[in-house]
Order: sequence, then structure tokens, then C-alpha cells
Amino acid sequence: MVAALLLANFSITEWTKITARQAERKEAQAVLQEQVMAENVTMERDYPNLHAKGKVTKQDLPEKVVFLTFDDGPSRNTVRILDTLKEYNACATFFVIGENLTEEGVKIARRALEEGHMLGMHTETHRYETIYHSVDSFLTDYDKLAARFVEEFGECPAIYRFPGGSYSNYINPIKEELKENLQQRGFLGYDWTVSGEDSVGTPTATSIKNNIFDTIASRERPIILLHDSPCSNLTADVLPEILEKLIADGYTFMTLQYREPYLFPW
Ligand SMILES: [Zn+2]
Repeated sequence: MVAALLLANFSITEWTKITARQAERKEAQAVLQEQVMAENVTMERDYPNLHAKGKVTKQDLPEKVVFLTFDDGPSRNTVRILDTLKEYNACATFFVIGENLTEEGVKIARRALEEGHMLGMHTETHRYETIYHSVDSFLTDYDKLAARFVEEFGECPAIYRFPGGSYSNYINPIKEELKENLQQRGFLGYDWTVSGEDSVGTPTATSIKNNIFDTIASRERPIILLHDSPCSNLTADVLPEILEKLIADGYTFMTLQYREPYLFPW
């Protein structure tokens, strides 16, 4: 009834104009859709390794669960970290730099997988100026790492962490486009909610522990950022104490495939 009354107010010419505009819009939408599809084809051609089937493994999580993550390895420190994790029966996720996947690095990464840990993508070069120059330069770099993974392990991880996280002066100009792009390709992104600050300034064993234990209680399903780079000796030194306290506080360790993706909301 309302529609009929409204229609009655329109002249035939006005009605024709509206129908024409609707048709125009539909056509414009179809053209846009075609462009998007064409772009996707080009992307697949240019970056053939860049797709994954990222899916969170659904499982009821313990009330106190913690997700340890180590960035920038593998290195000799990863070996020490793996020894400690084994000793305390804990697991972790390692965000790997492609340039560290030397013959030795591959062995270490393989050991991590065999011992129940998880690997994630952290770019090939980790050079902020290059990778964040544009979405394309990021993808070119990321594609190299993906290819390495495929070559060594048969597939590339479906999870990633941006070097420096998803908020910095380097990434900010392209971050929305980049996040969207990786999501469309099936990758799941993870920043952190607790940082040991073990690669910033001049950390000490005490500062690393304090950074973790001052904030962890206020975080739900905390993701802890630490490093296993060649210069993260201190992290490897202090890890037993961190694990002892986490265990004493009642935390269970899990790898990131059980947690929903998390990128900084800012
Ligand atoms: Zn990093």
C-alpha cells in the first residue's frame, strides 16, 4: 500500500530515470567485480605460493592458557629454547625468517615441528624499508619465504606475524590493504598481547620477567612475544624461570592454531 502511494507520486519519466540509474549501478558493479577477479588472477600468477587454508582448530581452551611465541629464528638460540621447552613439557609457536632457513636452520625448524611446536611466516628478509615499501614488495618477499617452506616442508604455514607487528610507522601506510590481501589468501595474522621486550634497548633477565608478569594477568588467552634470533641469548637464559612461574601460576601451553587470530585493534 505504502509502495503504491509512493509510486503514484512519480511521473513515468522519473520512474524511467530511476530504473536507468539502477541498471547503470548494476553494470558498474559487474565491471568492478570483473576487475577484482582479473586482479586476483594476476596476483595468483605473480605470487603462486601465496595461499593457505588458515583455520583455527576448535577446541575448548583451558581457563588459563598461554601462547608462547618466538620471532626471528631459527638460530642456535632456538636449539636452547627447544631444549628448555622439552624439559618443561611446554610448546610454542615460532615465526620464522626465511634468510635463517639455512641447512642448519631447516634442521632446527624440523625439530621444532617434530616436537609438537608450530611454525609461522615472518617474511624472508625482515627488512622494514623493503618489505613495507608497498603491498607488492611485501608479497614478493613473503612469496620467497612461502616457497622455501613448500620446498622444505611440503607446505607453507597458514599463520603469519608482521615484522614489528601490525602497527608501526613502516607498515601503517599499507597495513589495511595488506591485512585484507593476506586474509583473502587464507592467512591468519597474529600480533601479541604481552611483550617480554627482549629485543628492545638493553633488556635484563629481570626486565624481561617483569614485562611479562606485570601484564599477563590482565590479558585473555595471552600471546607472549619473545625472540629466538642469533642474539637472543638472554631470552634463552631466562626462559626456564619464565616457564617455572607460568607453570606455578597454573598456565597451560598451547600453539596458535587453537587461538583465534589477533591483530592490534589500533
Ligand atoms: Zn621479527
